Amino acid sequence: MPPIARWSFTALQQVLRRVETTYTAFFRRGRGFPRFRAASRYHAAAFRVGDGLSFRGSDRRLGIVGVPGAIKAVWHTAFPRGAKLVTAVVTRQGGNWYAVFSVEVEFGGERGVGDVGIDLELSALFATSDGHVEPAPCFERRAHKAQRRRQRALARCQRGSRRRAKVRARLAAGSARIARQRRDHAHKLSREWVARYGRIAFKDSNTAGLARSRLARSIHDASWRLLVDLTTYKTASAGAVVQLVDPRGTSQTCPACGAVAANPLSLRRHACACGSDLDRDAAAAQVVWDRAFGPGHGLRSPSVRVAA
Ligand SMILES: [Zn+2]
Repeated sequence: MPPIARWSFTALQQVLRRVETTYTAFFRRGRGFPRFRAASRYHAAAFRVGDGLSFRGSDRRLGIVGVPGAIKAVWHTAFPRGAKLVTAVVTRQGGNWYAVFSVEVEFGGERGVGDVGIDLELSALFATSDGHVEPAPCFERRAHKAQRRRQRALARCQRGSRRRAKVRARLAAGSARIARQRRDHAHKLSREWVARYGRIAFKDSNTAGLARSRLARSIHDASWRLLVDLTTYKTASAGAVVQLVDPRGTSQTCPACGAVAANPLSLRRHACACGSDLDRDAAAAQVVWDRAFGPGHGLRSPSVRVAA
């Protein structure tokens, strides 16, 4: 038997699909030549549903080619009504197996009405132009503390030891957990916004530039790039609009009169000579709203840039 016939054709297709995706992405980018991936880092397999992976509706079990029997699964959510299963990715994360399905479904969600400016700030997770300020989720900080502890434990382990492999698995499980919580949170928020508003404006911020600073952790926590991305794709299917505005001076401009003043980051209130007194982030969100949808107080193109 030739060695290649020892595996199922699906397993072989997997590898080819992966190589295809990797090289397509490489040629599109034009840089970052694909690296070899060791078997120990190969954690995901993509299937077309019905081709190597099947879903049994009667008892909601999965069938995977090469795995005997029907596999029992814990379902986190039901498939939307009338959904057509397209692909499934089976991954292994920290000793657990996950199947993620992509489905084709008629979009049934309603889009909201009205406009909103949303400022994703460092100290708070976000503020909206209608005055709502939502704090950053605390799961991140708690989880990061545990991760740092595991990292120290890993550093104490002897290289190549069995103990080290165990500690590393625990560290990986922690990272996966943080990523899942963050994504889940971002999905819920963006869903809420799209259901509530028809037009949503964000600051067009350069995350890469900010993340290098010592404020990196807070930004990471809020993970607002993810929020903008998720909101953008959700608005697209809902027929709503996302608008990105010039971020310069949003926290230095008064939303009521357009006056520009340097507000140090430590100052939590926005207080202006015109009498406007607001939460700092809510004020910035109003400026974002104004730049996107407002009549403009000359705020659309800030001519003066004041250092905070
Ligand atoms: Zn003012």
